[in-house]
Amino acid sequence: MSAAPSFDDREGSLWFDGKLVPWREANTHVLTHGLHYASSVFEGERIYSGRIYKHKEHIARLFESARILGIKIPYTEQQIFDACYEAARAQNIQDGYVRPVVYRGSEMMAIAAQQTTTHVAIAVWQWPSYFDPAAKMKGIRLAISDWKRPAPDTAPTAAKAAGLYMICTMSKHTAEAQGYTDALMLDYRGYIAEATGANIFFVKDGELHTPTPDCFLNGITRRSVMALAKARQIPVHERHIKPEEMAGFQECFIVGTAAEVTPVSEIGPYKFKPGKITETLMNDYLEEVHREKSAVEI
Ligand code: PMP
Repeated sequence: MSAAPSFDDREGSLWFDGKLVPWREANTHVLTHGLHYASSVFEGERIYSGRIYKHKEHIARLFESARILGIKIPYTEQQIFDACYEAARAQNIQDGYVRPVVYRGSEMMAIAAQQTTTHVAIAVWQWPSYFDPAAKMKGIRLAISDWKRPAPDTAPTAAKAAGLYMICTMSKHTAEAQGYTDALMLDYRGYIAEATGANIFFVKDGELHTPTPDCFLNGITRRSVMALAKARQIPVHERHIKPEEMAGFQECFIVGTAAEVTPVSEIGPYKFKPGKITETLMNDYLEEVHREKSAVEI
């Protein structure tokens, strides 16, 4: 089996603390606050045909995530906005993934981190949009995780913070070990929340149902898909959804920057048949991300 090259061992350069540096030299010390105490926030964006989709919204969320954690980013939003394109150009990438990450440095190695500096890195790598509609329409299978999304007074749930992903990786590993592709996570009250890195929608009698994002990320893709559904006069119900309601849903799909719109065929004991509404929104979303100017307001 030929493994993909490790992410620290690639050609080219990435943006690190204000300038482009050789990819393999973009290193940080092991005594980094971000590594030990999860004082780190990040973004995941896609660049389509040379344009980063909803770039402004992603950069605004990065700054908001940092603000929530009390991390001061020593750049303006415009500088980070431009730096992402600089990093994409440096790698000559038209279609790929953009990963900005912000973390606290090594000046202090204890819980308190008042004197730490803030580091920012932006890496861009090749990741063409996966589009084989027939294969995609088969749908993926999700396990139901035992881990619950925490309450907003238990963790900074509105931030895209590294620490929130600990239970996502654990959930995903358990699901994969059982032959599933991903996991559905419930929230601290037992309502349906989201997948490990994507939001979720269900279809019932031609209408969409999606959980209220009151303890997990209100994803940018989620909001685009809701706007696309409204443009097609498909009603969208944003509400608390109990797991047992899945027995009455006909279609299901997950949405996110990486997942785009991905049909789901199975969640634990519940079965779905990816159908017309899923397919329509999957195609509308792909058209939308390739449009010169976004047609949907989020
Ligand atoms: N939830 C989680 C946990 C995620 O990691 C992501 C991906 N960023 C999403 C939802 C979807 O967010 P977006 O559509 O903004 O990528």
